Amino acid sequence: MLFIGEYELINRIRKVAERNKIWRSYIGMGYHNCCVPHTIMRNIFENPGWTTQYTPYQPEVAQGRLEGLLNYQTLVSDLTGLEVANASLLDEGTAAAEALSLCYRQNRRPKLLVSNMLHPQTISVVETRCQSLGLTVEINDVFEVDFSNRDIAGVLFQYPDTEGNVHDFSAVTEHAHSHGTLVCCATDLLSLTLLRPPSEFGVDIAVGTSQRLGVPLGYGGPHAGFFACTQSLVRLMPGRMIGVTRDASGRDGYRLALQTREQHIRRDKATSNICTAQALLANMSAMFAALQYGLDLDMNMIPNQLFFDTLRIEPKLEIEDIKARAYQKEINLRYYEDGSVGVALDETVTFQDINDLFYIFGGTRKIEDLLEDPMVREKSISRSEFKRTSPFLTHPVFNSHHSETRIVRYMKKLENKDISLVHSMIPLGSCTMKLNSTTEMMPCSFKHFTDIHPFAPLDQSLGYHQLFAELEKDLCTITGYDKISFQPNSGAQGEYAGLRAIQCYHEARGDKLRDVCLIPVSAHGTNPASAQMAGMRVEPVKVKHDGTIDVEDLKSKAEKFKNRLSCLMITYPSTNGVFEETVADVCDIIHKNGGQVYLDGANMNAQVGLCRPGDYGSDVSHLNLHKTFCIPHGGGGPGMGPIGVKSHLAPFLPGHPVVNPLGANSTSYGVVSAAPYGSSAILPISWAYIKMMGPRGLRKATQVAILNANYMSKVLEPYYETVFKSSTSDLVAHEFIIDVRDFKKTANIEAADIAKRLMDYGFHAPTMSWPVAGTLMIEPTESEDKQELDRFCDALISIRQEIRDIEEGKLDIRVNPLKMAPHTQEQVISSSWERPYSREEAAFPAHFVKPDTKIWPTVARIDDIYGDKHLVCTCPPILDEYN
Ligand SMILES: *Cc1c(COP(=O)(O)O)cnc(C)c1O
Repeated sequence: MLFIGEYELINRIRKVAERNKIWRSYIGMGYHNCCVPHTIMRNIFENPGWTTQYTPYQPEVAQGRLEGLLNYQTLVSDLTGLEVANASLLDEGTAAAEALSLCYRQNRRPKLLVSNMLHPQTISVVETRCQSLGLTVEINDVFEVDFSNRDIAGVLFQYPDTEGNVHDFSAVTEHAHSHGTLVCCATDLLSLTLLRPPSEFGVDIAVGTSQRLGVPLGYGGPHAGFFACTQSLVRLMPGRMIGVTRDASGRDGYRLALQTREQHIRRDKATSNICTAQALLANMSAMFAALQYGLDLDMNMIPNQLFFDTLRIEPKLEIEDIKARAYQKEINLRYYEDGSVGVALDETVTFQDINDLFYIFGGTRKIEDLLEDPMVREKSISRSEFKRTSPFLTHPVFNSHHSETRIVRYMKKLENKDISLVHSMIPLGSCTMKLNSTTEMMPCSFKHFTDIHPFAPLDQSLGYHQLFAELEKDLCTITGYDKISFQPNSGAQGEYAGLRAIQCYHEARGDKLRDVCLIPVSAHGTNPASAQMAGMRVEPVKVKHDGTIDVEDLKSKAEKFKNRLSCLMITYPSTNGVFEETVADVCDIIHKNGGQVYLDGANMNAQVGLCRPGDYGSDVSHLNLHKTFCIPHGGGGPGMGPIGVKSHLAPFLPGHPVVNPLGANSTSYGVVSAAPYGSSAILPISWAYIKMMGPRGLRKATQVAILNANYMSKVLEPYYETVFKSSTSDLVAHEFIIDVRDFKKTANIEAADIAKRLMDYGFHAPTMSWPVAGTLMIEPTESEDKQELDRFCDALISIRQEIRDIEEGKLDIRVNPLKMAPHTQEQVISSSWERPYSREEAAFPAHFVKPDTKIWPTVARIDDIYGDKHLVCTCPPILDEYN
């Protein structure tokens, strides 16, 4: 079968999915069942108006997404009690590793202390990261450690811990701080609606996952990691952070007044502090308490003094008996090596579920009776010293949408502010914004994919494993590699994972000195950053005037570092948009000098079906499944960055402490993500894409992608010069860079002005100022038809004419449609218009921009510098529209 049609595909993937068995999982360990509100499932998760945007680098056409993320930051900041939070990280493990790296960056001490009561995968990810930075990780009981040596950069503990205990860390924090050690806390946002927030222990950083706040288990992801810290560390905080600023007309991005968070907390005292989750929580916690009490009455030992939703139980029955009863009830529990059993409850638990648990542990009671017992209430957290007393989620945004009617309208209002692929092409060079088809997306909502715990036994996840195996086989065929690891959650994390594999390979051969990584100066910023994270020393390689790699320079550096050469990182076709004819020689040179080749796979959209990295000499690549293989960008994630390797690197792929993808005999260097197979739940998208296209379709897609880029480059040639082309064929690859640098001199126009002006034409800008400063990089992909390509070219040609009008003095050099772009509806319909160009020129600059389809930027040009100087990254108060 060469390819599969859409209906058949859905039937097939449903069969695959149904090989997964949906048992009730009370395993916990950072992954909990939760109810995903259907309105959010349908209106956000399954809605291309929300899933197909790019990262909000062009804020004027991304205000909706930005507001959503700001709400998220406010939520995290409120619940943890810390002043600032970022707009998410890949997962809890990564967030924890970032937290400890921050501690090290701040005080440069060589040692980190990690509590032995963390989730095992968090410990592994942290250990793996610190190892490459040359840092020592001590895993210990944090209550026992002496900080007075002043050599510990940071301490990390978990609250509530992996076994469910709730401890007071005030003394540890005080002790650590008095010796200059920073304090990090992994925590559970849901628990913080009831428990004192970690800020009240004085912690500097809080991390964790927000999965259980409405995101399905999905066999491990995608889920958002969170990161919050004190104001004093904000400049060191990793990840993206949304802030409030003002636009060119002096208005705030969100129509909010600037104010610090402290003021926001105080101001909102009048608003109700009840949210749906809290009401639910109160009921939940009564159930948890009843479970513990009931098990206790039935002679099970429960060491937990205080707990939130997780218990470690020493059962009175034999463990084999417990397992058999759990099997009979189709319930997964956490089985510790010493025979004790972990149970983590969640909001989906019903009375019947609790009664089944009583049965499993040999009890006879019924929850219905226990809830009447006053002893149960005595056990509740809300009676303890840990009861949260500070308010949270007091901002009107969290308290104004009480009906489905209101929340649907709020979601739609935000959606309408953003440009996504449902409006027009997003020709971002190197980002491959292509069609994310409905058929590909549908399986992501199948319950047999969404409702599986990542640590469920293998015989319950056969569907997922079939999916992994088939996708691995297809990706190996496409790339020429022998083995795939699905653990990395992004391209950048794939780079880190691949480089660590290379290091591990060298070390296994006794080659312990190889730490030099050659990287062309045109490389994507993640390349050198990943090399540094992997503990390598970066040596830049020159790029020639025509944009190709300087092979002479490469050769001399490779020879110079012959004994220390670890690897080369290159991108092919190059970041400059050309197929470099020397690529095979370049790989050869590296191998001859004992190095390995890391090929950045972001540009696979120019290669699939035509050539394979594994054939022309590369040893390892990451594949951005959220570029070439159709996972939508989601406005900045989730994505997947699996790595493909040649067989000699296969033994060195990432492992996992709970479910090891490599089996018991692996020689892995460690773990890069919290989940063994990364964001498994979005892999059906890439699987479906490959199956529906078939080999011929995939090759055709690549050919059309290259054709489209060359077509646009040619159409634009009389107006904009393409910076780099192949010297032999005069062609570009699947993307190309146009030169706009001269306009600075002739018309005082910069790339940013053109980018903003494109919004008035209804388009998202191409990639700006990368890889060449002051230029634009265009990638049309195969998904766009000739009509759309022509529309985009017409916009750029029309903009070229506007620039000419400035050059010729027909338009004012300061106040012209480019410098003043983008134009908002408010500006254009205002009764005062004092610009030396017309309103029509401002808002309807081309024949295809029509009143009935016009996309209006909702703010005028955003002032980035102002925002950086006046950092506000939680929702500022008072929004007239809420009141
Ligand atoms: C997108 C990209 C990356 C990074 O991928 P992420 O998934 O965003 O981390 C690396 N290199 C190149 C050339 C890219 O275009």
